[in-house]
Amino acid sequence: MAIPVVLIPGDGVGPGITAATVRILDAAGADIAWETHLAGLAGVMQHHDPMPQSTLDAIARTGIALKGPLETPVGDGYRSINVALRTTFDLYANVRPAHVIMQGGRFEKVDIVLVRENTEGLYVGVEHYIKIKDDPHAAAESVALITRAGSERICRFAFEYAVRHNRRKVTLVHKANILKFSQGLFLETGRRIAAEYADRGIAFEDKIVDAMAMNLVLRPEIYDVIVTTNLFGDILSDEISGLVGGLGLSPGANIGSKAAIFEAVHGTAPDLAGKGIANPSALTLAACMMLDHLGDVTRADRIRAALEATIRERRTLPHDLGGTATTDEFADAVIATLGIV
Ligand code: NAD
Repeated sequence: MAIPVVLIPGDGVGPGITAATVRILDAAGADIAWETHLAGLAGVMQHHDPMPQSTLDAIARTGIALKGPLETPVGDGYRSINVALRTTFDLYANVRPAHVIMQGGRFEKVDIVLVRENTEGLYVGVEHYIKIKDDPHAAAESVALITRAGSERICRFAFEYAVRHNRRKVTLVHKANILKFSQGLFLETGRRIAAEYADRGIAFEDKIVDAMAMNLVLRPEIYDVIVTTNLFGDILSDEISGLVGGLGLSPGANIGSKAAIFEAVHGTAPDLAGKGIANPSALTLAACMMLDHLGDVTRADRIRAALEATIRERRTLPHDLGGTATTDEFADAVIATLGIV
């Protein structure tokens, strides 16, 4: 029986890359019953709500969604729907794999999986202005909430991921030298969990985030699985995307115990919206992570192989990878390659 999956086309380049991704999955024979729902700006336009209840109900029912990028207004306006979805469904683990697909760039051997804590830290959204004299915005305070339970489950997730995927090392990234309480709790918890996995062949190290940012551009090939708190994970995952060819190739999964939402790491790419030239690869690779999650690993591997072969062949490349292909032309090339991998 077809597996029901919520499809959120998203904003900006979202509808174009989701349509291309659905075509590729359909061509690969994925047995999915797509249920299209809106969120973000599209939700506001149609339902006057960036996170319509019907969308939430559908995700709660199916437990799985493939989501295009959603626009978040800067400053005023509604809060990030991406963050709200992660909080609503307690999608505590953000998993972002990155490896070099197109050789000939600055690095050849990068193969990193970043596991980012997705519900705590500075992203809890607890912030306020402080009035001093007659200035209501004289100061602003944001709370970075770290809990032992939250740290424990994300560190355990990272080690379990390492064991299941035959990885060798987990690097915990922190700033415990300065933020001794919040980051200190994360590091202390990580060390305790690491000790449980020491005899299962998974090495452990910890790195301060600023040193890690530098090491990643100097010697990224020495890293394997990285686990870190919310803000550091957000920043480092974009840095890692840059090491392997940019945001157009970087997928992500948001995983909780009751639901999982798969998406590209990139945003709505307003500069490309409506032009039909965005690279659909990141979302297609996210859809492959979704198939893995649903147990359809063979099909996911086949789609990944076709996509990577299409890119390596360099005949039909999207603009961000130096080619001239439109989103649909690239998807057609991947579908054609599916027949021969
Ligand atoms: P962005 O990721 O949209 O764009 C950054 C750069 O990457 C741009 O030059 C863009 O053209 C390029 N790019 C992104 N996706 C691409 C693709 N598929 N193919 C080719 N090039 C691509 O980041 P931004 O401009 O900072 O954010 C735009 C909007 O997206 C904002 O409203 C932001 O809040 C939102 N956003 C959403 C998500 C999400 O839904 N998960 C993530 C990040 C940003």
